[in-house]
Amino acid sequence: MLRKIKRVLVANRGEIAVRAIRAVRELGGESVAVFSEGDKNSIHKDLADFSVCIGPAPSSKSYLSIPSILSAIDLTNADAVYPGYGFLAENSHFASICERSNIKFIGPSSKTLSLTGDKAAARQAAIEAQVPIISGSPPVEDVKEALEFASKIGYPVLLKAAAGGGGRGMRVAHNEQEMVRLLPVAQREAEASFGDKRVYIEKYILNPKHIEIQILADEYGNVIYVSDRECSIQRRHQKLLEEAPSPFITEEVRKKMGEAAVRFAKHVGFTGAGTVEFLVDKDMNFYFIEMNGRIQVEHPVSEMITGVDLVSWQLRIADGQKLGIRQSDITVDGHAIEFRINVEDPETFAPSPGTITKLFLPGGYGVRVDTHIYQGYTIPPFYDSLIAKLIVWGKTREEAIERGKRALKEFIVEGVKTTIPFHLRTLEHPQFLSRKYDTSLVDKEFLKTR
Ligand code: ADP
Repeated sequence: MLRKIKRVLVANRGEIAVRAIRAVRELGGESVAVFSEGDKNSIHKDLADFSVCIGPAPSSKSYLSIPSILSAIDLTNADAVYPGYGFLAENSHFASICERSNIKFIGPSSKTLSLTGDKAAARQAAIEAQVPIISGSPPVEDVKEALEFASKIGYPVLLKAAAGGGGRGMRVAHNEQEMVRLLPVAQREAEASFGDKRVYIEKYILNPKHIEIQILADEYGNVIYVSDRECSIQRRHQKLLEEAPSPFITEEVRKKMGEAAVRFAKHVGFTGAGTVEFLVDKDMNFYFIEMNGRIQVEHPVSEMITGVDLVSWQLRIADGQKLGIRQSDITVDGHAIEFRINVEDPETFAPSPGTITKLFLPGGYGVRVDTHIYQGYTIPPFYDSLIAKLIVWGKTREEAIERGKRALKEFIVEGVKTTIPFHLRTLEHPQFLSRKYDTSLVDKEFLKTR
């Protein structure tokens, strides 16, 4: 139960707003939903105890508008704010205003966020915490410096925005000519997307796996890892399906990665729920890529195999409570897979917003659906295309895959196109079944056939 926090304003929308409202209620708190004019038909505003309209549909004028969110907090007397993922979740400026205004930001301190949000600074922190990183440069000033550095580490290299996120602002250069051409493109894109044109260079790892570690840390120095997640099913560096535990790494590597993640989290003074992301090569060498100081879309797979309610712990930690679980209490039971159901064409991934004319959500043993959609709901075109997360659990990976197929087949969404057929194809793919897939699988195997 919450002791200090009474009323939480949920500064988000969609499934994660619903997820947070549920957790607040289960802990005896009150919730405030905020919604834009484009989200008047959203269910999260009906599920919360209170709701406030925060402005026009474009997120820059509503969910991303700090003055609007602060006014809503003031108006409703909320004493804490839950940012979810995206929008203001990793905005250190917003977190610092909350700190100064005596509003509890449910996440790490603004100081930690400004460090984890800057990939170049985070790489430096990883070195200090003795966590392996990919060879790379500090942010480069110009093409000359970039060429010099790339020739030292060898092509191909990846140009990455220091302030990057969501797979945006990344470019692969295979040789000098490409570097000359792509550096200004990457810098322009970084400036346009993040208001920060700093770009750095990293060795491009061929066909890596993306494996990440879930962290929970309280305000008293207790830090634990709550399972790893395999997120290598990606299209253009964006995750589509995640599973836990990773079917690839050994117990020994798993433990080493967990401990490295804890070291990093402690080093940056992290509190709350966060994720340390790694790339893993074929020989199971792992390299830090970044820490996300917030809840991740794919957190439910960790919850399903450990029984740890991560959002509930985020709230309790922010409430000043001690982490009541030790590392030795965390045990893994079975296997879980999450399918991101997006309103997108399953072949081309082009967005497909519209009205849901018929809906049936799958259920039964080992099936969880986190969603905000309902029959008759019109999906607004302004926000991301995630409409539901289907999470399945099985005693073994094979059982989870069979349950996943069953649940995907009974999931009825009519009126819009969704990624359900894509997931069914993934579950039949020999490389997926043999556990040997990496981040190149979707781009190589699924998109070439079009
Ligand atoms: P973002 O914050 O934009 O999501 P990340 O640093 O988390 O960016 O990387 C996203 C994805 O990009 C990774 O999961 C991986 O597929 C790919 N990636 C990132 N860095 C490298 C690298 N050095 N070599 C190969 N692939 C990479």
